[in-house]
Amino acid sequence: MSESNEDPVEQPGLQQRDTHLEPPTRSRGTIALLEENCTVCMLCARECPDWCLHVEGHTEAAPPAGPGGRPRVRNVLDRFAIDWSLCMYCGICVEVCPFDALFWAPALVPADGERPVEEQADLRAWLADVPPPPPLDPAADKAEEVVAAERLEAVAKARRTR
Ligand code: SF4
Ligand code: SF4
Repeated sequence: MSESNEDPVEQPGLQQRDTHLEPPTRSRGTIALLEENCTVCMLCARECPDWCLHVEGHTEAAPPAGPGGRPRVRNVLDRFAIDWSLCMYCGICVEVCPFDALFWAPALVPADGERPVEEQADLRAWLADVPPPPPLDPAADKAEEVVAAERLEAVAKARRTR
């Protein structure tokens, strides 16, 4: 096996291959934020082992759910940022979000100090790169939500035909 003292990234052949790399579709290149799904529950920030998520919000009054109902409050997101210099791409934040507000997107971005903090608008822009979910397994059991919805629909239909 031959050895070379030449820096690998300086070798023209390798450099050319690097610039044409396409990240795998399901790779963990960056995290995208769907702001409207975020309820500022803080679960991701609490579970992140590196404390690299900055989530801030405030509460606002919201109208009652129905006539005669009590006034409600809702959380409004003010800031969502990721400090990439601390992130270790573990994916815990994406996994624990109960409202599907965080997604992995494939991207070739520097994973060092050149990418320190990304704010809400930039995290949202990555949504365009999020791949569609894989197709459902036709042999899989129906989701609990689907079974419950079908049961409710069957009950409603039975009442309508009485
Ligand atoms: S991927 Fe892991 S380290 Fe990075 S922000 Fe999410 S929980 Fe934190
Ligand atoms: S866990 Fe999800 S909904 Fe909760 S603050 Fe994080 S991104 Fe928003």
